[in-house]
Amino acid sequence: MIGGMEPPEKIRVSIGTAIVLGLTCGRIDAEPTTAYLLTYREGKCQASCAFCPQSRRSSGRADMLSRVTWPVFSTREVIHRAGEAFRLGKIVRVCIQALNYPSVVDDLTALARLVKKYSDAPISISCQPLDRSDLKRLFDTGVQRVSISLDAATKEIFDRVKGVGVGGPYTWNGHFKALREAVRVFGEGNVTTHLIVGLGETEEEFVKTLQRCVDMGVYPALFAFTPIPGTLLSDNPPPPLASYRKLQLAHYLITKGMSRYEDMTFRNNRLVDFGISNEQLKAVIWRGEPFMTSGCPGCNRPYYNERPGGPLYNFPRMPTLDEIAKIEKFFMS
Ligand code: SF4
Repeated sequence: MIGGMEPPEKIRVSIGTAIVLGLTCGRIDAEPTTAYLLTYREGKCQASCAFCPQSRRSSGRADMLSRVTWPVFSTREVIHRAGEAFRLGKIVRVCIQALNYPSVVDDLTALARLVKKYSDAPISISCQPLDRSDLKRLFDTGVQRVSISLDAATKEIFDRVKGVGVGGPYTWNGHFKALREAVRVFGEGNVTTHLIVGLGETEEEFVKTLQRCVDMGVYPALFAFTPIPGTLLSDNPPPPLASYRKLQLAHYLITKGMSRYEDMTFRNNRLVDFGISNEQLKAVIWRGEPFMTSGCPGCNRPYYNERPGGPLYNFPRMPTLDEIAKIEKFFMS
């Protein structure tokens, strides 16, 4: 490929997306509402994130990201079909996730241009921290949102799982600098970050970082840590569901401007009061929405964090009344 002129010939597609686009046959319980694409490389990512099967430190399968498999298809075929699916209302967004490699911005620019050729689907790009000129290039190509993943909720954990502790190229301050730059280029509310619950942070630390992101105009998307075979963290457990539910609710209240970290009460680093009345709390729980997948508009990421048998950390659809009744019990004990 010559410097961004042509998109890469092949691309990975999440298995759920491949089914929705008719690229492969299969049955899925929850259809993705966003088309999830992942840059294809022969080798591994240049970063070393301890939780990620794409990391160069992982001996896991190269066709996995989080719990999802990503088969390879022809780029033009995929993007043509994604355009059709957008017109038919089957998807509402295209998300291109990128490994870290030298020509990645050329590839992303060419891919975004191709998406735009086939439809008006809004595009999210999830990538490593980029400098202003590269962010501007993506913005000028018509990319709507960019996501730069912090993943970790504290500097110490960041260093341990993504930075110096695993020989990775990333720094906590570098990520925040890139997020600030991204907000300048894409505008407040048009930048996302991914935050993983269950990497060893306390509830208080997590909520504090949620608030910090929101205050700088960055929308945090919640993920539950998922142990993947072959990764450095393969033996670590996923987070307790009760704690995840609390953090989802805190996330909802903070992102909706209904409460703040400073209004909430923590005891022994655990969240014990959300800073709203019990009536308000009950009403918000019964909206169901706080427990749905969070992220860019229209992103539902089915089965990224979940085993098919459950539990469902992020609901890819509105939870049923029965499911909400079960969720409510976590808050009433
Ligand atoms: S929140 Fe969803 S659509 Fe946005 S970058 Fe992350 S995975 Fe992609």
